[in-house]
Amino acid sequence: MAETSDGSVIIVGAGQAGGEAAMSLRRDGFNGKICLIGKEAYPPYERPPLSKKALIGELPFDRLILRTAEAYAAAGIKLILDQAVASIDPSSSSVVLQDARRMPFSHCILATGASARRMRIPGAELPGVLVLRGIDDTTALQSKIKSGLRVVVAGGGYLGLEAAASASKLGAAVTVIEAGKAILQRSTSTISAHALLARHQAASVNIITGESIERIDGVESAEQVLLSSGRTIPADLVLIAIGAIPETQLAQDIGIICDNGIVVDESCRTNIPNIFAIGDCANHFNTRYGRHLRFESVQSATFQARCASAAIVGKKQPPPRIPYFWSEQFDAKLQIAGFVDPSVPVVDILAGDPASDFAVYRFQEGILAAVETVNRPRDFVLAQTLIGRSDVQVPVA
Ligand code: FAD
Repeated sequence: MAETSDGSVIIVGAGQAGGEAAMSLRRDGFNGKICLIGKEAYPPYERPPLSKKALIGELPFDRLILRTAEAYAAAGIKLILDQAVASIDPSSSSVVLQDARRMPFSHCILATGASARRMRIPGAELPGVLVLRGIDDTTALQSKIKSGLRVVVAGGGYLGLEAAASASKLGAAVTVIEAGKAILQRSTSTISAHALLARHQAASVNIITGESIERIDGVESAEQVLLSSGRTIPADLVLIAIGAIPETQLAQDIGIICDNGIVVDESCRTNIPNIFAIGDCANHFNTRYGRHLRFESVQSATFQARCASAAIVGKKQPPPRIPYFWSEQFDAKLQIAGFVDPSVPVVDILAGDPASDFAVYRFQEGILAAVETVNRPRDFVLAQTLIGRSDVQVPVA
């Protein structure tokens, strides 16, 4: 029995998750009004290429747009762009837009994503210190990066390394500063991290680990960074890539529980029953793992959009998915499936050659918890189906 087949759904945030939620509602038979409100000027678009092919100019920005404005209109979805939702009034079930318009809802879906974490250090506000989250950021980076430019990337996570690889391909002299002991420490096996490190080093990307940036110096623009060891690195451009902060303010303002994102149940419902949260802003209860998890990935955003839609129309929840993520750096296409519990010891088994193509099978307590492959898409498809099993025979090569 449908919870509602009409009513009015307001989706706050026109990103990957918000766009998918709007379309899912229609696919699930929701007949009421749907309004998708985004503060960026673009209809929902894919962010992954922003640090990869779009940054090096191999993919034009119009190809990132997931669906045209006309496609939303044809589906009866009202798209309001360039307009932020300023507040939510749960007592009257309405949102207030930046331009003071008030819009009522029967259900509201928060799909506000995350914003780039900034550095609170002297010089962080200088021109030439940039972040990378949206199309406008990639445009700004592209307009500056050219052959010979000295680029310092703060952060050796996926985004920082992808941007470093792209800047290097554009001819820049790139240094990555990672405060941890190694790159990709939190999210990846040491085998894959070393394999990616080798690719960066082969392309003369300078990777410095175990040091942080204390200060950015410059007169009119960034000129150098000062590291914790006291040494300085010249920099014409500094890209801050030290993670993202979930956008929870609207939820916090009305007492919705937030803890590493907006806390939601399996169906993406918050503690206010007609308000949902999905995507990067949401800390979702994952039934497969029996805990709340916040994955910043396209797959999580689209899956959670479908969960919220199903709950709103009263459909059965879709079965939980195995988390999936990918990255591209130089010639390496890394694909990761599964979840490695950081509190449980992990045994990694390598098949293949880290210098070309390989797979890493990651076991916890005898069970295949996750798989990483580089340039082995076919192995990846098979290995993915083995996650959760204890009888896995790892191939020898
Ligand atoms: P977003 O796509 O961030 O959308 C949220 C939208 O809400 C934004 O447009 C924001 O402006 C808007 N908004 C916020 N507050 C308001 C408000 N008050 N009113 C109105 N609008 C508001 N994932 C992968 O799986 N693989 C990858 O290789 C990969 N690469 C990435 C590379 C980059 C450079 C980035 C930035 C992300 C990458 N990701 C990748 C992550 C993936 O893009 C995100 O997980 C996904 O975009 C999350 O979708 P979302 O809709 O939750 O958030």
